[in-house]
Order: sequence, then structure tokens, then C-alpha cells
Amino acid sequence: MKGAQSMLKSHEKFHSENGKRLLLVADDELINREMMRVVLQDDYELVFATNGEEVLQEARKCKDVLSLILLDLIMPVMSGLEALQVLQSDSELSNIPVIVITANQNAEVESLQIGAYDFITKPYPQPDVILARIQRAIELHEDRLIISSTERDELTGLYNREYFYSYAEQFDQHHKDMAMDAIVVDINRFHFMNERFGAKYCDDVLRRVGKGLLSVVGKAGGIVCRREADTFMAYCPHGLDYEEILDKASVSFTEEESNGTRAWLRMGIYENVDKTIEIERRFDHAQMAADTVRGSFTKRIGVYDSALRDKEMYSEQLVADFDIAIKEQQFCVYYQPKFEIQSAVPTLVSAEALVRWQHPSLGLVSPGVFVPLFEENGLIQQLDVYVWGQTAAQIRAWKDRFDYVTPVSINVSRIDMYDPHLTDILLGILAQNGLSTSDLLLEITESAYTRDSKQIIDTVSNLRKLGFKVEMDDFGTGYSSLNMISELPIDALKLDMQFIRGAFATGGDTKMLEIIIDIADYLSVPTVAEGVETEEQMEALRKMGCDLVQGYYFSRPVPATEFERFLEERNKQAKATE
Ligand code: C2E
Ligand code: CA
Ligand code: CA
Repeated sequence: MKGAQSMLKSHEKFHSENGKRLLLVADDELINREMMRVVLQDDYELVFATNGEEVLQEARKCKDVLSLILLDLIMPVMSGLEALQVLQSDSELSNIPVIVITANQNAEVESLQIGAYDFITKPYPQPDVILARIQRAIELHEDRLIISSTERDELTGLYNREYFYSYAEQFDQHHKDMAMDAIVVDINRFHFMNERFGAKYCDDVLRRVGKGLLSVVGKAGGIVCRREADTFMAYCPHGLDYEEILDKASVSFTEEESNGTRAWLRMGIYENVDKTIEIERRFDHAQMAADTVRGSFTKRIGVYDSALRDKEMYSEQLVADFDIAIKEQQFCVYYQPKFEIQSAVPTLVSAEALVRWQHPSLGLVSPGVFVPLFEENGLIQQLDVYVWGQTAAQIRAWKDRFDYVTPVSINVSRIDMYDPHLTDILLGILAQNGLSTSDLLLEITESAYTRDSKQIIDTVSNLRKLGFKVEMDDFGTGYSSLNMISELPIDALKLDMQFIRGAFATGGDTKMLEIIIDIADYLSVPTVAEGVETEEQMEALRKMGCDLVQGYYFSRPVPATEFERFLEERNKQAKATE
């Protein structure tokens, strides 16, 4: 109930402080229309009709912004009663509340029966009575719209996404010339907070963040919703103090619960929105802007600007070109070797398949650009299946030519992990190329495990039962707890590159790296270090007990034909020790 109240509050603000509602006054007598004008013009914008046909015309013209119709029942050409019947039977118009004006007592009953909201009898009552009845009808009608919307956010009492969008559109129609901002507010590392402080406490944080936002945005006549989990949206008149909004919404925890930690927010703003683009897209822009300050400790606010617009258009082009790229085989697979470094001579033990896009007009595009994009819209599944197929065919070709061929690891996106057919797809690709599960290694990013971990763990366990070896990629970035890792079904830990960077940067130290290698030891799984670029790094890692190394020191990712020199070398090595 509390939720409903706060919602009504913001909704009242929206009405009283911004513009006037539009009323249609239908009466065939000039004197009556003028009387109504005098009574109503301070509070409402007015349009007039002199007969039933004009009522329908005007209603159709203004249907999206019309708040109420005052309808005289006796009019020439088409009577008000007939007009009311047509209004009620038209699904686009039946939504507009109608107050009937009449001197005829019997007609009142009839008009109420066919859907009028209320009636006012002639001769007219006092102006304030008329105003009160109109106001009440409008409020009742609009509140009913809100309350009938079952999809409001239970937790915060704010609008939910759907209602918010439709209200924002309504808002625009009432205030066509008002400059507006679309704002997205996210809580940084909310996931982490949830783990640390518990769901109940974080629910309370969400409520308080919502309330803080509403206190500033609502006062200025804007509207607020919780879009999902820890993301809020606000649509408000341009020119608010963004810092103030963030400050009001950045609730503090009580001291003893958090040692002074605050919910740390980030904000994305699409200022002065272009109202010709869809409302959802305006908030996509704001979200993009918010993402630019994700993880930053110095910047809390991102603004959608021309650089972001260019980036967005670039992304859109990549998405648009995807189908053709698959068809025309513009994607190709590069291979980067992994070496075992604990033996006297580093030995090739496997490779990683990394996709590249040779785009006809944009040149070589890095997977660092398009993979995250395709993960967002699900295209990654199609791309991955393609890459896996290409890789398997390549392994097959090598097997036919070399005595000794290493397994190759493929990247399995966290999106792929939700596909119930994943296992069948992988087995199908192997069967098609006459390979077995020991020929493909699977790299699954750590962050895949931390979300929805139960389902992912089941899938991975099943894959391992079938004989696949699974490497946990980007280890150290997904915030898994040690406790959780010890229960994970994995065959190798692949350290994220940032640990190598951190350890060997000037002023860096290798502590973190040593700890992670110790963790892997404790779990009895081998460690793979990637991004190893120098001999010094390789030697240090060897001393720390790291098992496998991948990086520019040995080789960049290279096309299949170039990779063959590593296979040839390895075959020679194998022959020599036979
Ligand atoms: P990742 O799986 O962590 O792959 C390692 C990245 O590090 C590769 O970037 C590789 O080229 C780069 N790298 C390797 N050694 C060094 C080094 O010594 N120094 C530096 N600076 N970089 C090194 P790449 O190929 O651009 O791939 C970026 C990311 O894109 C990959 O990160 C992976 O997450 C994703 N990706 C690549 N191919 C695929 C694919 O086929 N499917 C999926 N789902 N994701 C892929
Ligand atoms: Ca990888
Ligand atoms: Ca990685």
C-alpha cells in the first residue's frame, strides 16, 4: 500500500505542475460554451464542438491527450447520446471519460448506462462544483489506469518499466515543447553488496535509492521507475542538478552494518532528448552513457554525446552485417599456442581458437569489440557454433596430416551456457569431424559461474562426464568465493591478464599472482597464465609454479597455416624422444 501512495504522489506532481489537461466541451449553444470557457479556462486547455459529429472528429484528433469530454446530450446533426454510443464502441476512444450535460433527468440514467462517467445538470451549478466534478472524474480515471496496471514494482512502489514508458509517452503528448532528460541510475557492484549484506538489507537499499530519486525528480515534475534489479530510470524536465539527484539517492548504510559504506551509484544521462526516437531507445542511450563510467571511482556521471552516438552507429552496423558475414565467411579463426613451462624445454600442449572478423569495409575487427555486442543480442551463439565448427574441421585436417596434434580450446560464452542444446551441439560438431571430447578444450569465463551458478555448474559437470576438459577463463575477475571455487567442476584455472599486468608493471608486485597460483595448487588444478609477453615474465611464472603460458612471448594468435610451424616443431620433438 505504501508503494501505491508514493506512486500517486509522483503522479499528482506530474499533473499539477506541468501544463494543463485538455478538455473537449461540446454544446450547440454559444452562450453555454462561453460560460464553460469562463469557468474552465484557468485550469484547462479547451477545445469545442457544436454537434455530435464534431465531437467524434475532435476526439479522434486528440485521442492521446484528451483528458475528458463534457458532452451536451441534445445537439443538432448528431445528438450527444449517439456520439456517446459511438465513443463507447470505439476501442481507441472508449478510454476517454465523458461527463454528460443535460436538463433531461431520464437521459442521465441512460447515458450513465452506456458509459458516461458522471453528469452535470442544467441549469449549471456553481463553477466550483463543476470544477470539482471534472477534477474528480479525471483523477478517478487516471488513478484507475495506474491501479489497474498490475505490473508496478512491488518492492519500491515506483512504476515498473512498461508503465513508466507509457506514462513518459503520455507526458510528452501533454508537454510537446518541454525539453526532457532520460536518466539511468545503476548501483555499482550491487551483486557484491547483495552477497555481503544479504538480500533483505539490499531490498531496503533499493527502496531508499528509489525514494531518494523520487524526492528530487518527482518534485521537478518528472517520473521514476525501477527497471530491473538495481537499475532505475527517470524522465524529467531538462536542467535538474544531476549531482543533487545522485547525492539524494546515494543512501548510506547505518554505521554498524557497513563501516560507513555507501551505495555507490553511477548515472547516465541522455540530455534534451530527441522526441522523434522511441522512448525505449532514449533510455538505451542513457544506459550507454552510464556504462561509460562503470567501475570508475572518480566519475559518477556519463553523458550521451556524439562520440557515443558514433560508437552506437558502428555497433549497429556490425549487428546489421552479421548475417552476410557468416554467409560470406568473413569470420576466421586464429590460433594461439599454449606452452607447458615446468619441463626443461617449453612444450606445446594446446592452443586457443580466437575469432577475427575481416570486414569488407571496416577492416579487421577485434572480438573485443564485437563479442560483447553479440553477447548482448544473442548472436554470439550463432557465431560460436560457426567458430567451433571451423575449429573442429581444422583439427580434423591437422590430424590427417600430422602424427601429433594438440587439443584446441574454444571459448564458450556465458550466453551459450544457457542453451539446453549446448551439449548436443558440441557432440554433433565432434561427430561430424570424427573427433572426440579430448580434442576440444572448453574455456568458460569465471563470471558465467557467478550468475545462476547452479544451472551452469550442472551443465559443466555433465560436459566433464562426457570427457570434455574445462578451463575457467579470466579467473580473478568474477568475484567467486574460495568456498565456491573449491566446489566447481574445473580442470584448469586461466588467470586473467590483469594479474600479469599488475605483477610486472613498474611498482607492481607478484603477491596477487602467487596467491592465485596457491589457490590453484590447493584445488589441485593446473594454472594457465595468458598475456605473457616477455622472457622475464615467463621465468617469474615458472618459479612461482605456474604450469602453462600463453602470450605474445611465444606467439600472437596466428592463422591456421602459420600455426602449423608449432605443430611441425612439436612433431619433431615427439619423434626425437621416441
Ligand atoms: P580471452 O578469451 O581472454 O582471450 C585472450 C585475449 O588475449 C585474446 O584477445 C588474445 O589475442 C589476447 N592476448 C593473448 N596473448 C596476449 C599478450 O601477450 N598480450 C596481449 N596484450 N594480449 C594477448 P582477442 O583475440 O582480441 O579476444 C578478446 C576476447 O574476445 C577473448 O578474450 C574472448 O573473451 C573473446 N573471444 C575471442 N574469440 C571468441 C570466440 O570465438 N567466441 C567467444 N565467445 N568469445 C571469443
Ligand atoms: Ca579465452
Ligand atoms: Ca581470458
